[in-house]
Amino acid sequence: MTSAPLRLRRDADALTANWRALARMSGGAACGAAVKADGYGLGATWVATTLAAAGCRDFFVATWAEAEALAPLDLPALSVLHGVRDEDVAAALSGVATPVISTAAQAARWRAAGGGACHVMLDTGMNRLGLGTDDLAGGALEGLAIDTLMSHLASADEDSPKNDDQRRRFVAMADGVVAKRLSLANSAGIALGADFAFDLTRPGLALYGGVPRPDLAGAIVQVAFPLAQVLQRRTVAAGETVGYNATWTASADTEVAILNIGYADGYWRGFSGHGRALHDGAALPLLGRVSMDLIAVDVTAHDVAEGDWLDVDYNLPRAAAQSGMSQYELLTGLGGRFDRLS
Ligand SMILES: *Cc1c(COP(=O)(O)O)cnc(C)c1O
Repeated sequence: MTSAPLRLRRDADALTANWRALARMSGGAACGAAVKADGYGLGATWVATTLAAAGCRDFFVATWAEAEALAPLDLPALSVLHGVRDEDVAAALSGVATPVISTAAQAARWRAAGGGACHVMLDTGMNRLGLGTDDLAGGALEGLAIDTLMSHLASADEDSPKNDDQRRRFVAMADGVVAKRLSLANSAGIALGADFAFDLTRPGLALYGGVPRPDLAGAIVQVAFPLAQVLQRRTVAAGETVGYNATWTASADTEVAILNIGYADGYWRGFSGHGRALHDGAALPLLGRVSMDLIAVDVTAHDVAEGDWLDVDYNLPRAAAQSGMSQYELLTGLGGRFDRLS
């Protein structure tokens, strides 16, 4: 197939280093990996292969289709976070992954299907997925062989009283349930300290270079590096404008490179006026609006020619501040037109 004018360089050493750092911070707890949404946009197969080689055992996807895509890897432990709908029973019974049961109806369905070991999600105040205290009191989990009992933190990226509150509720709810392991922390939750690690942590974002809390900044390195090819270099004369709606006007003659990346690739319009490409460590400011498939950057005094490749700055905390998007959206929004390199 013809090579694309757009590349996503993925740094396996950086991914591994991030997992090892999070595993260290998890103390005695095992450290898993959330690889849903195609490994947060980087390729679930590549992520899971890389992390399994590093020693990661517990992998989490959202759906059974995502689990089936990873079946060839024969991962040590793969779990489906969104549980078992009627439509999922056959896939779940095939043993491709273990369901995370999150409603009383799912628990009944799994019991009736004669499914084996499962995980269970408890709701401790996020009010997203999970069984509540009423479900537990009603015997929803009776007869289930529970491997990991888990819950999810709503505000771990903030110093919120909600964190301790959810932790307390988790411990109280887990008290009456027989399970092999307890698990509460996502990436940000790991930074909340040993009290939040329990037996298994479930980082996603930070594996991929995201920094959900400032206290993780020193430990996490960038994993995903978009590169775009220069399709044209032109001189824009003083007084001329660049791009849709002419939002940028040259105050002096300016050398401009047109790069093959745009909002259809997840390089959102919010980067307009804020984003930048990189050349030999120097920042090349974005000029005008992000188009669907193109951006313009200032290359005045830079030796950049048609056909060259430029890094697009995608340091996630900085890119999030520039674009107004979350670090999660920046990763999962990366489109399908990249040639993924690793
Ligand atoms: C996505 C997800 C994670 C990972 O969260 P991050 O904030 O990306 O670290 C962990 N647990 C559950 C239940 C999730 O849905």
